Amino acid sequence: LSDRLAETFKNLRTKGKLSASDVDGTVREIRRALLDADVSLDVVKQFTGHVRERALGDEVNKALNPAQQVVQIVNEELVAILGGQQRRLQFAKNPPTVIMLAGLQGAGKTTLAGKLAKHLAKEGHTPLLVASDLQRPNAVNQLQVVGAQAGVPVFAPEPGNGVGDPVKVAKAGVEQARRAQHDVVIIDTAGRLGVDAEMMKQASNIRKATNPDEVLFVIDAMIGQDAVTTAKAFQEGVDFTGVVLSKLDGDARGGAALSVASVTGRPIIFASTGEGLDDFEPFHPDRMASRILDLGDILTLIEQAQQAFDEEEALKVAEKLATEQFTLDDFLAQMQQLRGAGSIKKMLGMLPGAGGMKQQLENFDEREIVRTEAIIQSMTPAERKNTKLLNGSRRLRIAKGSGMTVTDVNQLVQRFEQAAKMMKTVARGGVPQIPGMGPI
Ligand code: GDP
Ligand code: MG
Repeated sequence: LSDRLAETFKNLRTKGKLSASDVDGTVREIRRALLDADVSLDVVKQFTGHVRERALGDEVNKALNPAQQVVQIVNEELVAILGGQQRRLQFAKNPPTVIMLAGLQGAGKTTLAGKLAKHLAKEGHTPLLVASDLQRPNAVNQLQVVGAQAGVPVFAPEPGNGVGDPVKVAKAGVEQARRAQHDVVIIDTAGRLGVDAEMMKQASNIRKATNPDEVLFVIDAMIGQDAVTTAKAFQEGVDFTGVVLSKLDGDARGGAALSVASVTGRPIIFASTGEGLDDFEPFHPDRMASRILDLGDILTLIEQAQQAFDEEEALKVAEKLATEQFTLDDFLAQMQQLRGAGSIKKMLGMLPGAGGMKQQLENFDEREIVRTEAIIQSMTPAERKNTKLLNGSRRLRIAKGSGMTVTDVNQLVQRFEQAAKMMKTVARGGVPQIPGMGPI
């Protein structure tokens, strides 16, 4: 065991240095998670490249807890791409605030118009919905239904009032809002199943005619790998100030969020999470980051591992180390703690970057703890404190008392002395820590 302990402590002593292969293993896991979440390949490459660079850099080298630090970096980078802080709607200094919606057919624009109108009305605004989707026969009616549900008026084209011309309708809608003192105008527009030039031109013309304060690009979170081309096309064709991710209630793990945010550099402002008008929430980059990577699981594992160790006991050992009085009792306590951790191998196996530790534990033999326990418990308190007392006759007595051989006792004492020596060395450099588990 002592060789293995030595290895472990050596690893921990140089714990700052996550090896390149540790980092590569972790990065591979991240890459897989992102691809599973349907993040576009280019974005994944760029992202993992960045994480790798940071993980091999100084900040991890100096960290107490490299594996956790890498997780932290991944999380930070995700949150940063997703816009960092939550971004709020921007309102015009001189009302009405004009909000235009753009996106493919079926993305969820009309539904969002109703959600947004209801949400804003609840906050004391007086929104007007404008039906500028004249593409589909039923589109105006759909908005009217949604408007009625939200309790918000809808401006729809009437004969002689821009019928057939979505740009004119949008413009007339904004004028109507100004006249009737609506402080927000939400313009619903047409989409196509695929990106096409005519639709882009129309959306772009509506934008020019109404000069919106916000253009929200609505995108279906389930769109997967097409997110990038679609977002790019809308950015070039219309441009937008923010993104709304819809249908997040589905199976999508939100990879589209990362792709779109990364490729366009535009913030995601809202998430749409169902067909009902209340299924709508401000977008939180940190929550989405966790969702994408499923970090929740990893954090739970770290917590479990921490609980497996008796912190108070660990602190006592740490104090002993500091004063260089490491005894056989401490040695035993350490081993018993390791056993307490129970499924520690499994837990470590699931932590990125814990590969080295895992191998140490792979070779760890539970029976060795039992033997060590038996031998140490056959010693007197004085012997446990000072192994120099252990002459031949005492060793024989201990061997008999514990049902072991004198050789077993000798080996244990030797291992302990080596460990104690190492502990002193470690103590001068600080208390060793297994990633996420506190001092051992
Ligand atoms: P538009 O063509 O962009 O205006 O899309 P619609 O608002 O008409 O939505 C298309 C379909 O998606 C409708 O059946 C909506 O009920 C549904 N839908 C919209 N947003 C969501 C959402 O967040 N979750 C779910 N599950 N369905 C949604
Ligand atoms: Mg629509």
